[in-house]
Amino acid sequence: MRIVDVKSYLLPKTPPPVTFRWRAGLPGSDDFDEPMVLRIVTDEGVDGYSEIRRGRIGLDLVERRLKHLLIGEDPLLKEDLWKKIWELDRIEELPIYALGAVDIALWDITAKVANLPLYKLMGGYRNAIPAYASTVTFGSIDEYLAVADQCLELGYTAIKLHAWGDARRDALLARELRRHVGDQIPLMYDGSAGFDFQDALYLGKALEDAGFMWYEEPMREFSIASYQNLKTKLDIPLLVAETSDGCHFNSADFIKFQAGDIVRTSTGLKGGVTGAIRIAHLADAFQLRAEVHGGGLPNIHVACAIPNTTYYESLVFENPVKRDPLVDANGMVSAPQSPGIGWTWDKSALEESAAIIV
Ligand SMILES: [Mg+2]
Repeated sequence: MRIVDVKSYLLPKTPPPVTFRWRAGLPGSDDFDEPMVLRIVTDEGVDGYSEIRRGRIGLDLVERRLKHLLIGEDPLLKEDLWKKIWELDRIEELPIYALGAVDIALWDITAKVANLPLYKLMGGYRNAIPAYASTVTFGSIDEYLAVADQCLELGYTAIKLHAWGDARRDALLARELRRHVGDQIPLMYDGSAGFDFQDALYLGKALEDAGFMWYEEPMREFSIASYQNLKTKLDIPLLVAETSDGCHFNSADFIKFQAGDIVRTSTGLKGGVTGAIRIAHLADAFQLRAEVHGGGLPNIHVACAIPNTTYYESLVFENPVKRDPLVDANGMVSAPQSPGIGWTWDKSALEESAAIIV
């Protein structure tokens, strides 16, 4: 089997529905959601698909570098192609969200050839997993409490906050939310790297007191020493290495230097399916969990393929809260059962709807 073409479909820009603290007012923030679909075409009629969220950058990478690298290669030699892209990354400094795009499409091809849903090919641990409601940033404590009520009503069994990035206000929100939902609902907090050490420590202690399940990415993740220091001062589990570069190599250092209690893994930021599985197995060797970052079908497959993870991340991005079509009334997400990843795109629909096809 050989790769004979690599196609890019830049989809029309849609207004960003998601409001996070770091996005409000950023110039150009409405460009974030102009996605590109990548299609890897083989000589045996089996195509693989994946997505790059910042599509203009994706177009450039595919046309200028990836197409030349991929055409003529065997799509089933994924480790070989992963290594070639990793070598390319040294020169090109690929955006972290683009590093795994080819790998995801290659796994789509592999699972279609195997006639299996991806999670059963990768490992296969469960058919469904609980989803947590992962909030965007809402306007007030009262609004968060109202959103939490709706999430529980919809069947979610756990809630994670993305809040304002103000340590004192976020601590107050955490206390109020815990009081509101009671002791039995797992709550998590995601700092999205909004703090320096002193505020990260203050907020971590408040989350600890409120019985939160994990404290995620309070600071930028380039200083492992800072995380190591924070971990020595907190009992709440620290979830780390979501947006740090370097895939499993970087996760290994967070683990070795005891700079976190749980590591992030994801197909989107950690080198595709191959990178995500490497991190999950690395963490498992240390009896640690690798919690899967971000939604979408490839991440469902990873979460259902590995034993050492707890939840699927389902974004709750508006109030009133709408049901995530992937989450059922019991708060569960089921892995797609069709061969491959189970993307719903098809070639003719993409060719009709794309703003730019190359
Ligand atoms: Mg996060």
